[in-house]
Amino acid sequence: MKIAILGCGQLARMMAQAAARLDVVCSFVALEGEDTACVAALGKVVYWSPGDDTPNLYAALGQPSIITVEREAIDVALLRELTTLCPVAPSPEGVLVGQNRSLERAMLQALHIPCAPYRIVTHTDEVRAAVAALGLPLVIKACESGYDGKLQWRLHAPADVNRFCQAHERGHWLIEKFVDFKCEVSIVAARSGDSGFVAYPLTENHHRDGILLASIAPARQVPARLQQTATSYLRTIMDHLGYIGVMAAEFFVVDDGLLVNELAPRVHNSGHWTMQDDMTSQFENHLRAILGMPLGATRLRHHAGMINILGSTEGAGPGDLRDPDVRMHRYNKMPAPRRKLGHLNVSARSEAELLSRLSKLHETLYGAETAF
Ligand code: AMP
Repeated sequence: MKIAILGCGQLARMMAQAAARLDVVCSFVALEGEDTACVAALGKVVYWSPGDDTPNLYAALGQPSIITVEREAIDVALLRELTTLCPVAPSPEGVLVGQNRSLERAMLQALHIPCAPYRIVTHTDEVRAAVAALGLPLVIKACESGYDGKLQWRLHAPADVNRFCQAHERGHWLIEKFVDFKCEVSIVAARSGDSGFVAYPLTENHHRDGILLASIAPARQVPARLQQTATSYLRTIMDHLGYIGVMAAEFFVVDDGLLVNELAPRVHNSGHWTMQDDMTSQFENHLRAILGMPLGATRLRHHAGMINILGSTEGAGPGDLRDPDVRMHRYNKMPAPRRKLGHLNVSARSEAELLSRLSKLHETLYGAETAF
């Protein structure tokens, strides 16, 4: 069986590593000159730029049985053209919703799934009107192209509003209430063509400068009913889209439940801890879903965590890796500020043990202890 993955980053790398265990051969599309180091030696790489011929691309990929994606920032016109040659999962419509915060919010509203009060604005006059209607503090996010906290502005005081309006005139922004959340959690689920559905335990996420730093599963101090709520929200969204593959939803935990922050139509960094020995990883379940294979176990027997290796840190020390419950996953990337170079997965019998391991790893990676 052959599949092709659009994108050559670490998510494509980990998907290909899972594919090898299912005896599936991968090829990759390098989009507009992207770096391919993450997928080096994992399969054929074909370069694509806008205007290139799609049937030629499909032939160069070795005529895969199915095409999937590792990111939402993909030309949807290309995806639509590929659907005339072979199945594409998730569908272009599923990817489109994850690319555009305006479409995402409209869908959530139509499905009665809660998120922070917001407005979609295209001009600074509308920004000022939204500030008057919603009240400060607010967050402004570009509707397209923003990720890991990029293209976002915090408006705490009227001076911040003036500064934003002086620096921008027109754009396409989501402006939403700043949420005083208790914590951030996410859920990852897989849905297959025959409506098979599995969800992983709710994961607690810790960010630094808008980038995921660490995940803890199951999420602590979150009422058990919220697992049910998160699962049902994501299932509703996936059913509505007829979605096939893995999708993730990020939430803010507030007094009366969950508010959706963002959806990701792909495998997700907050699901990397699922690469444990005793369960089916999000990468394998994504492949199982798109290949029409039965979905694998998502039950977590112990406690699991993940810490990202970000920027120019050396990574974990040999002392940390002597521990058989700590596993390193490197992405073969050149160090650069804020760049995700790899991650460490940790498992433990108790929550206390997990937290102590994560704190220790944080200290080796970033030179300071942190309390998770
Ligand atoms: P995003 O790129 O939308 O996931 O935002 C990156 C991070 O910024 C989130 O994980 C939150 O920590 C924070 N953030 C985003 N939106 C809000 C909001 N409306 N209120 C409070 N914090 C937010």
